[in-house]
Amino acid sequence: MNQIHFEKQQGVAVIRLDNAPVNGLSHAVRKGIVDGICQAELDQEIKAIIIIGSQNMFSGGADIREFGTAAVTAKPNLLNVIDIVETSTKPVIAAISGICMGGGLELSLGCHFRVVASSAQLALPEVKIGLIPGAGGTQRLPRIIGVEAALNMIVSGETVRAEMLQATPLFDEFIEGDLLAGAIAFAHKVVSEKRSLKRVRDLKVSHPKPEAFFMFVRNSVGSVSKNYPAPLKCVEAVQACLTQSFEDGMQTEARLFGELYLGGESQALRHLFLSERNAAKVEGVSPAAKPRNVSSIGIIGAGTMGSGIAINFLLAGIPVTMLESKQEALDRGVKHITDYFADRVAKRKMKAEKAQTLVALLTPSLSYEDLAHADLVIEAVFESMDVKKTVFEKLDSVCKPGAILASNTSTLDLNQIASFTNRPQDVVGAHFFSPANVMKLLEVVRGAKTADDVLLTIMQLAKKIKKTAVISGVCDGFIGNRMIAGYSGEAGKMLEEGATVQQIDKALEKFGMAMGPFRMGDLAGNDIGWSIRKGITQQHPNYVWPSSALLADKLCELGRFGQKTGAGWYSYANGKRDPLPDSAVEALVEAHRKEHGIPARKISNTEIVQRCIFALVNEGAKILEEGIAQRASDIDIVYIYGYGFPPYRGGPMFYADRVGLLIVQRAMEGFARNDKTGGASWVPAPLLARLSSDDKTFN
Ligand code: NAD
Repeated sequence: MNQIHFEKQQGVAVIRLDNAPVNGLSHAVRKGIVDGICQAELDQEIKAIIIIGSQNMFSGGADIREFGTAAVTAKPNLLNVIDIVETSTKPVIAAISGICMGGGLELSLGCHFRVVASSAQLALPEVKIGLIPGAGGTQRLPRIIGVEAALNMIVSGETVRAEMLQATPLFDEFIEGDLLAGAIAFAHKVVSEKRSLKRVRDLKVSHPKPEAFFMFVRNSVGSVSKNYPAPLKCVEAVQACLTQSFEDGMQTEARLFGELYLGGESQALRHLFLSERNAAKVEGVSPAAKPRNVSSIGIIGAGTMGSGIAINFLLAGIPVTMLESKQEALDRGVKHITDYFADRVAKRKMKAEKAQTLVALLTPSLSYEDLAHADLVIEAVFESMDVKKTVFEKLDSVCKPGAILASNTSTLDLNQIASFTNRPQDVVGAHFFSPANVMKLLEVVRGAKTADDVLLTIMQLAKKIKKTAVISGVCDGFIGNRMIAGYSGEAGKMLEEGATVQQIDKALEKFGMAMGPFRMGDLAGNDIGWSIRKGITQQHPNYVWPSSALLADKLCELGRFGQKTGAGWYSYANGKRDPLPDSAVEALVEAHRKEHGIPARKISNTEIVQRCIFALVNEGAKILEEGIAQRASDIDIVYIYGYGFPPYRGGPMFYADRVGLLIVQRAMEGFARNDKTGGASWVPAPLLARLSSDDKTFN
């Protein structure tokens, strides 16, 4: 299908971009625009040219399907296109509606005139993938909307509605009603008034106090963008439009863009951007499968997770019935939800009427009969197979046929849970992360019998509640918690071997983890792991725990569960969340070492990072090979959105790819040769070893 349509209307050439879903600037689109301009220039009857998009939007910028292919840089590239548009001898008018972003906005800045629907949304979002605009955006936008406004848009990457820029000369006319008709009328005006062709590049740009302003901006941007070089490069590029000619400024933009493009941070952020899109795809579902309709939700359990999960659906305007076994617990859950909305209102993030409307969508209940009509029920009761059994048997008897029955279990066997019902095809895992209304990740657990349409429904719903969903197969801990076991395990072992709680946390935080493993344990509650260990011991009385797990048990035996008890691996002053080093923990560790005859040694920060992160990678490789994760990039998503892995490192699997799998494997083999670093516990996963010897990568 043609991605560009060319037609003549009333003496005006109309070049229409038609590349769904966002009129991305694919090679075919770029070439089509150039051909269209040339054709229009040769045609004596044509007096002006309009560039407009299909589906009521201008263009979302680069066509991401071309990323990583030769088509991205194939000539004409966007710079060539803009140059040809800008130097056209006939007036070129961009007719803008819907989204006009990235390369789309840069293309419009190359046009001589711009007409717009006031609701159009504009952005230069390149900074979000670690880049700066690379087709003149940093040089043209400041020339037309002013340095400060342009800098705001470029450094933040945020979207601005066209009407917000009404006071600037960016738009020549705001058009109500039919955009094309308005653009054609405007074109006739330009021609009849013999208006000269305005080139944004020729506009004068200035700032009253450029040096002081840019020093201030560099300081403030630098302080919030530590591991991300792009925002400061945006500042540098914009500053060039004041200190350099347009041509030199374009060279500066190109140089900075090139540096960022090849840098690790942008590669990681681009990987993340594409990974997020891929994660939404479910492998192996029948093409005939269609999502089921979900317009009402039931939630069982109004505790930490149940009430958090409810907030997500209420925010999306979906009615929720929340069920509890006890009135007191129900009241607590409802209070948590109403407090949340009251806080939004108090912080002026939501209007009071809106909060009222959303809270009214919540129906608290103590009776299962109230779930009879729910399209989807999510269970978030205690983590006990017996309790889950009671709940799912009950759901099976009360819920309507076709209702989806989801469990938020983090450790239990979903297939067993499904077996408590006569409809295992309708049972799925919906593993939210805590706090459920904040964390972006949702692990969707695909049971052996989960129906295709059930998976599609949950993936679609995840989008509605603004979560990034990743499919996981059934295994102990699913993707995320299964991997974290090895990571925390290494941290525990290194504590025994001589490192301190603070050193380990700091080393991993310096690597970029949002929180070190001990701070994370204190936040989540050390008792959770303790109770899981007790459960395993109960099931497998002969299981031999590593001594580091016994150290964690000892901490819990002292009631040091973490922040909630005011003490864990750290201590916490009266309700505060700042972790304070605690000599009692040091004494506990010291006594433990003595008891187990472990001499303390000096451990380097490099060893800490390698052992913890490579443990993640190794388990990730097994998860991938077993088909628990659909793709390596899904594991990266889980770690970035669920476990605070630094986005600028692209997730553990991407990080390993960048380090080089051979290097990762050799490091593991080094640990394996030394009893002090874990010895025989380090066996590189077969997939890792294979990819490394074939010189391949996970991604
Ligand atoms: P919680 O103890 O805060 O809440 C559980 C609630 O379920 C309680 O209010 C309890 O009264 C209620 N309940 C128990 N049996 C019930 C029944 N038969 N019918 C109705 N209500 C019942 O627990 P939580 O932290 O919210 O965890 C709930 C589930 O979510 C567990 O499966 C847990 O593994 C999982 N999960 C927890 C976290 C977390 O960080 N807390 C994260 C992910 C998943």
